[in-house]
Amino acid sequence: MLARTALTSKLAGFGTTIFAEMSALAVETGAINLGQGFPDTDGPPEVLDAAVAAIRSGVNQYPPGLGAPELRQAIADHQRRFYGIELDPSTEIVVTAGATEALAGALLGMLDAGDEVVVFEPMYDSYQACIALAGARAVPVLLAPDNEGRYVFDPADLRAAVTERTKLILLNTPHNPTGKVFTVDELATIAEVALERDLIVVTDEVYEHLLFDDRQHVPISTLPSMAERTLTISSGGKTFNTTGWKVGWVSGPEPLVTAARTAKQFLTYVNGAPFQPAMAVGLALPDAYFEGLVAELQTARDHLVGGLRAAGFTTYEPEATYFATVDIRPVDPTGDGMAFCRSLPQRCGVVAVPNEVFYARAEHGRHLVRFACCKRLEVIDAAVERLIEGVSR
Ligand code: PMP
Ligand code: GLN
Repeated sequence: MLARTALTSKLAGFGTTIFAEMSALAVETGAINLGQGFPDTDGPPEVLDAAVAAIRSGVNQYPPGLGAPELRQAIADHQRRFYGIELDPSTEIVVTAGATEALAGALLGMLDAGDEVVVFEPMYDSYQACIALAGARAVPVLLAPDNEGRYVFDPADLRAAVTERTKLILLNTPHNPTGKVFTVDELATIAEVALERDLIVVTDEVYEHLLFDDRQHVPISTLPSMAERTLTISSGGKTFNTTGWKVGWVSGPEPLVTAARTAKQFLTYVNGAPFQPAMAVGLALPDAYFEGLVAELQTARDHLVGGLRAAGFTTYEPEATYFATVDIRPVDPTGDGMAFCRSLPQRCGVVAVPNEVFYARAEHGRHLVRFACCKRLEVIDAAVERLIEGVSR
């Protein structure tokens, strides 16, 4: 019998991701899944057709290490079209297996054991795991709701989090799970600290096209002097309702892209050959597509937020993304979000995700729960009805 522990000590305590646990619970109980963020409708037919055509025309072997040339060109064109960013597709863009691998490549490719990474908490769950795999340490800066319910950070906390060992700041805007869009002022504060302390900024912008109420996405790389120290990550999953395709990318100055690529090439090497040209088609779709996507999601957001409020939760209205966060304490005085989410499918037939898994210091998120709005209206309305009936009882 094997006596030793199989799991590396670096991953001790990470267990199974909350998304796997909660989606399995949804299947098991037949509950409506507002936990894991994935749309329940297909993306644009042009994009789906392009993938089918690619498979049928023999695009089924390893793509080039940097990614399909037409996709790298489409990413460069997209960054110029939406943000005025100029990139050389031959040295400043690499295609990855989703943003998840882009993050892993960037963190494993840049961090040494003992390095510190400043991260805003709550944060997407893979951040802490990849930082741990690199042998580095995550130093959290808290995002908490202000009096108007807008998630904010204290610039003094950010400054205090930076030490001699800090190598990079890991940013996510628009932000999962809070739905926060970092304002230009907030980005300027982060940029100021990065410039002062010679830090790299790795920025996860996978929700770049999902901003509500006419908000604009501003990549931090477009702030003065930031392009040379920013690695930008995105992917096509959210923008084209193709989360299962896992096509993402990194872009930025050659030294940062090369660092990420050096690790990435030993993770998957490459992936998704026929999906890469399809993503290129998606990125070149007319503005009307991107506008329609947001309009639809914003209506869904409004149905969800209205419903969560009607069910009695304190609800923080998201400015962007797939997600709305609620404080459960008005309906559940124990304030135990994990227990709440584990019993919700049985109790109400709805699945949600406890935000505490997104915190380095779980106590800050104990009473918070995330619901996804990237679903058909009838699905959201049915979930809301169940919550109003089951939770407020
Ligand atoms: N970053 C954030 C903030 C996310 O919410 C997600 C969720 N999908 C990812 C990265 C991972 O993206 P992908 O599916 O492209 O790997
Ligand atoms: N990004 C999605 C979410 O936050 C899905 C993540 C996942 O399944 N790993 O829900």
